[in-house]
Amino acid sequence: SPLITMEDVFKKYTLAGETLNALDGITLTVNKGDFMAIIGPSGSGKSTLMNVLGCLDTPTSGKYMLDGAEVGKLSDNKLANIRNNKIGFIFQSFHLLPRLRAIENVELPLVYRGMSGRERRALAKEALEKVGLGERMYHVPNQLSGGQQQRVAIARALAGRPPLLLADEPTGALDSKTSRDVIGLLKELNAEGNTIVLITHDPKVAEQAQRVVRIQDGKLTEERSVAS
Ligand code: ADP
Ligand code: ADP
Repeated sequence: SPLITMEDVFKKYTLAGETLNALDGITLTVNKGDFMAIIGPSGSGKSTLMNVLGCLDTPTSGKYMLDGAEVGKLSDNKLANIRNNKIGFIFQSFHLLPRLRAIENVELPLVYRGMSGRERRALAKEALEKVGLGERMYHVPNQLSGGQQQRVAIARALAGRPPLLLADEPTGALDSKTSRDVIGLLKELNAEGNTIVLITHDPKVAEQAQRVVRIQDGKLTEERSVAS
């Protein structure tokens, strides 16, 4: 069943009197359990689409439904709630807080959900064990390799068990061996039922996903879809 539906979504920017459709009529369905890669060159609209999918920005027009809620119509407060409850974010540059231990970084988004410390700690431990960092929970980021830091960030995304994992160039800062490991981990998480949308400019990364959608000049075309 659909987790995400977009119908005719536009994002328009006006610069010096010229209007640009950064998103130009996007129609997209992501089903629960999908692993979808969105691929496109620089300037094609990937960041704009990521920001709309991630509820960091709302469309100029069109309909975006995420897990039953029409997101385009919500106030900033409600959007912040949706981000915190429905989406686990994974970024190119990890975005870990340098002075916090791995487990504290993983717990951070759970603080905003009003969970008890004990509950947070249990979920964070479980998520770090799942990404293979059970032995490194009390390290700070600069005691960890780039691949390990990205695993901490993936654990942070997973810990609250959000319906959507949204990854923006998750391997962009990693060497090719480490990239393969991180994509392998995402594939495992998908096999366990997590829905993943990954945005990348790298065809080698995209080809690991079940569905590949290309964005070009703000428009989408499906390139490949395989039964899992
Ligand atoms: P990508 O992430 O694929 O490089 P973007 O989504 O950043 O693409 O940009 C898509 C298009 O929208 C580009 O032409 C870019 O210049 C334009 N754009 C993005 N953000 C803004 C903005 N805030 N104001 C004006 N134009 C923008
Ligand atoms: P870069 O690769 O250039 O460092 P990222 O992919 O890490 O960029 O971040 C993408 C966008 O997400 C940025 O515009 C950033 O402001 C925003 N962002 C960063 N951290 C968070 C966060 N914890 N929650 C929501 N948005 C974030």
